[in-house]
Amino acid sequence: MKRCLWCKQKAVIFMHEHRLALCRDCYPNWFLRMTGRVIKDRHMISPYDKTLVAVSGGKDSLGLWFALTQLGYEADGLYLDLGISIDEYSTKSKQFAIQLSERIQRPLHILSVAEEVGRTVPDLALASHREPCSACGAVKRYLFNKFALEHGYTVIATGHNLDDEAATLLGNVLRWQLGYLARQAPVLPAKEGLVKRIKPFIRFTEKQVALFTILNGIPYIEQECPFSEGAASLFYKDLLNKIEERSPGTKWAFYSQFVEQIQPLLDEKFPEPELRPCSKCGMPTTAEVCSVCRIKEHALS
Ligand code: SF4
Ligand code: ZN
Repeated sequence: MKRCLWCKQKAVIFMHEHRLALCRDCYPNWFLRMTGRVIKDRHMISPYDKTLVAVSGGKDSLGLWFALTQLGYEADGLYLDLGISIDEYSTKSKQFAIQLSERIQRPLHILSVAEEVGRTVPDLALASHREPCSACGAVKRYLFNKFALEHGYTVIATGHNLDDEAATLLGNVLRWQLGYLARQAPVLPAKEGLVKRIKPFIRFTEKQVALFTILNGIPYIEQECPFSEGAASLFYKDLLNKIEERSPGTKWAFYSQFVEQIQPLLDEKFPEPELRPCSKCGMPTTAEVCSVCRIKEHALS
């Protein structure tokens, strides 16, 4: 049995990539320290920022919201009710978000996609003939940004972890989606009409985030979104975990080398097309009408 490197108690985790075993008391401290370092090193949040956490009720976003407040950031939460009724997914996940907001005494804003856009995510997907995840992704990005802009938030923080980012990277590399790759960064600076976006958990695997959340006694929705079943990203995560088992440290090397060396070059070579206000809603878009207004148009016609 491994012992904690810091205090010699029984270890609950051994992190091969850091050559570090830690116990249940020391691990949350290490995790917070690491999060704080990522935020500082990458200039994610300045003392003048007002931070909004995209809270889904899952381990990553709740863990992130908790970690930020523990580090002294006065972050608020925004929960988007997607209207997914299968297994009461949305109702249950909202409850977990409310529970944490009460515990840390930070405001949780709640928006309903059905109220904002006219239909729930599953109905939007059906009506616009898109996969639920594609409609959902567009609507989430749009509503988080719009809400942040309208309420004076200058940073949107999301709970994406290393497994999420490495899986997205692998998917984009396999199809050489150069435009997407150019934009896959842990910090996306603010632009005209777009609020800065940050991913403070990029240094942690899914398991590491789950352990932090569990050790802090934060209940979260354990079931995956019903629409995530069969998603390519889950398959890529699985593949990357198998590679990691054979060759520990590969996941971080794959992602971090990309972020440090390749993404900045791509960003220069493939600048984002000029943004202009959507002719219907005024939010930034590259087209005449933004994708959410188009989804709405299809869904409501
Ligand atoms: Fe939305 Fe798809 Fe994620 Fe479910 S799995 S929350 S539908 S993007
Ligand atoms: Zn629009």
